[in-house]
Amino acid sequence: MIIITRHDVTDEELDHIRERVEALGLQTHLSRGKHRTVIGCIGDEELLAGIPLRSIPGVEAVHTVMKPYKLANLQFAAEPTIVPLGSATVGDTAIAVVAGPCSVESLEMLSATAQRVQKAGAVGLRGGAFKPRSSPYSFGGLGEDGLKMLADVRAETGLPIVTEVMDTRQADLVAEYADVLQIGARNMQNFSLLTEVGRLHRPILLKRGMAATVEDLLLAAEYIMKQGNQNVILCERGIRTFSDATRNTFDLAAIPVLKKETHLPVIADPSHAAGRRDLVAALSYAAVAAGADGLLIEVHPDPEQAVSDGDQSLTFDEFDTLMAGLEPVAAAVGRSL
Ligand code: PEP
Ligand code: MN
Repeated sequence: MIIITRHDVTDEELDHIRERVEALGLQTHLSRGKHRTVIGCIGDEELLAGIPLRSIPGVEAVHTVMKPYKLANLQFAAEPTIVPLGSATVGDTAIAVVAGPCSVESLEMLSATAQRVQKAGAVGLRGGAFKPRSSPYSFGGLGEDGLKMLADVRAETGLPIVTEVMDTRQADLVAEYADVLQIGARNMQNFSLLTEVGRLHRPILLKRGMAATVEDLLLAAEYIMKQGNQNVILCERGIRTFSDATRNTFDLAAIPVLKKETHLPVIADPSHAAGRRDLVAALSYAAVAAGADGLLIEVHPDPEQAVSDGDQSLTFDEFDTLMAGLEPVAAAVGRSL
């Protein structure tokens, strides 16, 4: 249930409303916006039926939230959530482009990639130090050495780093280095990991599982938010379907659907969706036109030599071309780069 307060509600009235709700054993969550303040109530809503909520001073309206996700629900927030990404943000007017190699392979390739993507307008560097691979014989990442390389390149360029955490046992270590922790598609429903990263004070990039519905994704975000971490970025990265023309099927419609359901920012990963570099620009433009707040793009100095995801990684020149083409698309939907 959400309680919308009057625009002139006082702090004392807000405290009083929350006390009345909390006295029944429910939790409250306050969201203050420029034009309205929302008190979200979580718990047994039947109990609230016993008090005349609408007559408490300061209350303007009371609405029931039918969907199972509450904290992630659009109705629970007075304003869209804007997540910090170093000195940039995700969810504001500017489209946040985060780019980098699938795996951190060496300091040299990481630094060269960071410099080029930054020059082209990327506001974040992404690279995997711990890699989830379908085959146990594939390269699994450089581990902490890779995290150190990411930190070195951040020191050199100022670009904030986004990198994946695969396991609760690595969460503190990865959080020491990363500005944003990525939860990969394969871990979207690893509930212990979601709970663990919910306790950390780091923004989370949550990728949609390849067999997850939009509701599953929002409930996964809810696990993180329930622990007190409200800085969650959702990522559409393609799902498994019968279509075999691309590596995954990019669920473009999920972007505007998410925008109607949640206040959290939504980004798209066209690289993993397509699995081939020649489609990445087209899917990027479609995602931004559909309302995405940002993009995650794989870029490699020499994709042919990449240890992972070379087929879908853009060359530096291809990334420049993508960014140049993105600007008018962003402008057409009232966004900037
Ligand atoms: C990745 O980001 O490199 C990755 C493995 O992505 P996903 O979890 O979406 O498959
Ligand atoms: Mn990858």
